[in-house]
Amino acid sequence: MKVYNDFFGPYGGRYVAEVLHGPLAELEEAYKAAIADNSFREELDRIRREYIGRPTPLLYAENATARIGGGRIYIKLEGLANTGAHKVNNVVGQALLARRMGKRRIIAETGAGQHGLAAAAVCARLGLECVVYMGEVDIDRQRPNVFWMELFGATVVPVGSGSRTLKDAVNEALRDWASSFTSTHYLLGSALGPSPYPDMVREFQSVIGRETRQQLEEAGVNAEALVACVGGGSNSIGFFSPFIEETTPRLVGVEAGGRGRGAGNHASRLSGEGRPGIVHGYKSLFLLDDDGQVLPTHSVSAGLDYPGVGPQLAALGEAGRIEFLTATDSEALAALKFFAATEGIVFALESAHAGAAGMKIARSWPKDRSVVINMSGRGDKDLFIAARELGAANWAEFLKAEAARCESR
Ligand SMILES: *Cc1c(COP(=O)(O)O)cnc(C)c1O
Repeated sequence: MKVYNDFFGPYGGRYVAEVLHGPLAELEEAYKAAIADNSFREELDRIRREYIGRPTPLLYAENATARIGGGRIYIKLEGLANTGAHKVNNVVGQALLARRMGKRRIIAETGAGQHGLAAAAVCARLGLECVVYMGEVDIDRQRPNVFWMELFGATVVPVGSGSRTLKDAVNEALRDWASSFTSTHYLLGSALGPSPYPDMVREFQSVIGRETRQQLEEAGVNAEALVACVGGGSNSIGFFSPFIEETTPRLVGVEAGGRGRGAGNHASRLSGEGRPGIVHGYKSLFLLDDDGQVLPTHSVSAGLDYPGVGPQLAALGEAGRIEFLTATDSEALAALKFFAATEGIVFALESAHAGAAGMKIARSWPKDRSVVINMSGRGDKDLFIAARELGAANWAEFLKAEAARCESR
């Protein structure tokens, strides 16, 4: 069996400045050696159990199923992982690898802050220095995560170039790494970027799919579809990973439909308007204008508005193994409300896109068929957005009063 892939059909590769070829080759060698090493795998298993809280549960959502009146809905509760989302699975893998390589300093990019948060937390736990690059616009939008990252001891570096969002943070992280790689590991947060990142991140996230497969077997459930949201693609590829080589179940990726069609309104690359290109060191499908410039994106969920998608997903989409759908902002918000009311679970806004698509699939099915939705994260982090969007009239009053309380301290 091949342990490692650098191309997926036409996509993937390593399109970086000369100076980064050495560090990427070193990382690839270290990664291959680590995953073949029992002591590495044992330590990874231990930290998954003791620190992340794995395995995360697989829930039969019986109330939601009854209310919809179609197929059975199961939910993989990945959001119960420590730090609130699947990101931590990849972070612990790469952080252990960095430590094994003798790198004591970790750099990471973050958009909404979930990857930065997981990196900061795991670095605190493992005694590593952590620097997180984050666009100024994102810092303004995601204060709570900045607060927690700094509490974990990380340095959050504001990025003021370009659109001052995630793609600029990636550029800054790559720039740092080009001059710091002897002491520093670049802990990239999704299944994209130059090789070996896409395949390495898939491997570390595949724990989601392996657990789900075992939990379905134990429950005697034959799932006919798996549904996951797709930002860069790490939770989806990890969830799908053990099933890719088989013809069943249906694998469904859900992209951000945002406000609807048209540039700047969504982040639908595979189900919409993506074009082949090379950005951030890898070839894949991106939202680009006619001159090849990266287009702006929009989603109510901060984690799904990246303009590109992991190369393996792009290839599997074109090969027809993975279907891609979209859910709009309002469909995601409706799904968040629905699962909160029926099951007492708060989906992250990203994951609520998968929730919305899963509900649609279940609705169109008879009662003897089963769909599994990956709840990639829990929604605590989205309190500010959800409270605003779902029209809690009291929320602004509360925030004003809270500001006054802060100032009078
Ligand atoms: C970051 C994030 C995503 C999107 O990233 P992927 O790499 O596509 O998984 C989805 N859900 C949550 C909760 C996230 O934090």
